[in-house]
Amino acid sequence: MSRFSQRRAKLHRKLKQAGADALLVTNFKNVTYLTGFTGDDSYLIEASSQSLLISDPRYETQLAEECPGLEVHLRGPGEGMSAAVATTIGLLKPQHLAIEAGSMTVALYETIAKTTKRVSLVSTTGLVETLREIKDQDEIKSIRQAIDFAERAFAVVRESLVADQTEKQVADEIEYQMRRFGARGASFEPIVAVGSNAALPHAHPTGRRIGDSPLLLIDWGASGPLYKSDLTRTLATDKISTKLERVYRVVLTAQAAAIAAIRPGASAHEVDTVARNVIAKAGFGRHFGHSLGHGIGLDIHEGPRLAQNQHRPLKAGMVITVEPGIYLPGWGGVRIEDDVLVTRTGHQVLSHVGKDLDKMLVRR
Ligand code: ZN
Ligand code: ZN
Repeated sequence: MSRFSQRRAKLHRKLKQAGADALLVTNFKNVTYLTGFTGDDSYLIEASSQSLLISDPRYETQLAEECPGLEVHLRGPGEGMSAAVATTIGLLKPQHLAIEAGSMTVALYETIAKTTKRVSLVSTTGLVETLREIKDQDEIKSIRQAIDFAERAFAVVRESLVADQTEKQVADEIEYQMRRFGARGASFEPIVAVGSNAALPHAHPTGRRIGDSPLLLIDWGASGPLYKSDLTRTLATDKISTKLERVYRVVLTAQAAAIAAIRPGASAHEVDTVARNVIAKAGFGRHFGHSLGHGIGLDIHEGPRLAQNQHRPLKAGMVITVEPGIYLPGWGGVRIEDDVLVTRTGHQVLSHVGKDLDKMLVRR
């Protein structure tokens, strides 16, 4: 059994629990996860008796290579996706068709509801996404590779930083270097934030120059062929002030404590709280406004979320970021982010870029 048919078999158990006998997969990443097909614009109907991918002629060759043996309906000229989906449902005749509420469009929903009156539609969320949270060995290998691309690029960029480079130029350089080392591209627009810009957790790179402030935050990641990485380092490009040192130490301590708490059975809430308590005790509680981390995989943000009120237990095979931060408006921010695998006995940090205080200072 291929790993894709194994995943589909697991999905069928979940479908049964949801009271459905088929699922219309409209999230392209979920289609990739279940079939191995990496193109876009294609939906999968996963029924108890058969799996059918609805795609179009542009992908004919790619489909044959990536998912041999999978039944495919290639849309004919002028055949819209909604019509093709309706026809396919008519052929497969599910009684209770689950739909992905998070990705299906209202237009498609209305067409299907109108044209397939005998099928009851069951709205679901996260059926495939929950399966995706637990990575297999191949997926972990792909994530390691995406981390490697990101880390090699960072090493080059870190060594070549100069004072009159702008945030935008550094962001472009990181992206270029990641591609040079084999990445398909950046897994998201790199955040390169100088000084007070680093107080914005999602800053866009601007024309501000590296030399304008001793503080530089870089949040970046690579996309391998499919899987993604996500890291953050905060650097000092000049003498480290007492304030920066203090804030940095608190964030680093919070991150270390949270990572140490990661093991199967620990809840996401618990791990988030460990980091939050360290930061709150140091007096910066209200300056850590986002959650501690998130899963990475085919998407840059996926389950599980390490956040308050997330009480599901962590499980072996999950890969999550741990990224506490302290943001002081007008001054700047410090965030440190690593990618961590939950193992059977605890955890393994997959990223390796140095983060001790002495690694923070970049000599220019
Ligand atoms: Zn990040
Ligand atoms: Zn992140």
